[in-house]
Amino acid sequence: VDLSIESITEKLKSKDIRPSYQRVKVLEYLYQKGGHPTVDEIFRALSVHIPSLSKVTIYNTLHTLVDADLVRVVDIDEAEMHYDIILSDHGHFQCEVCGTIYNFQVNIGQASIEGLNQFEIKQKNVYFKGICSNCLEQEQNRSKHHE
Ligand SMILES: [Zn+2]
Ligand SMILES: [Zn+2]
Repeated sequence: VDLSIESITEKLKSKDIRPSYQRVKVLEYLYQKGGHPTVDEIFRALSVHIPSLSKVTIYNTLHTLVDADLVRVVDIDEAEMHYDIILSDHGHFQCEVCGTIYNFQVNIGQASIEGLNQFEIKQKNVYFKGICSNCLEQEQNRSKHHE
């Protein structure tokens, strides 16, 4: 992905979004950082450089970017909304120990679905929850030390 300010500005313009400084910065952060940040995480990272920035601005900016299909919402977490710059189909796994959201490959298009023939499907999400391999390993190490 081309992360230059010019290409990010072009991306916004191509969706008829005015490339304000905040919008460019939020989109740049998402491209650079990847993963599935929350409003709070984006705010903490960007407010260091942009003291005038408010959480409301970030929230509104994300709303605009989601509406324009430049960013998507990951609502796997009851506590907070997460945002994802990867738009192609993939599944999400959230670890209930460390809270990390992992991407995984899944062929959503090939899932056999019955009973929705007359429905208009707008979103297809695959959400798994459990314990990630890092946390499982740590648990095993801890129990070894107690032996
Ligand atoms: Zn974990
Ligand atoms: Zn993702």
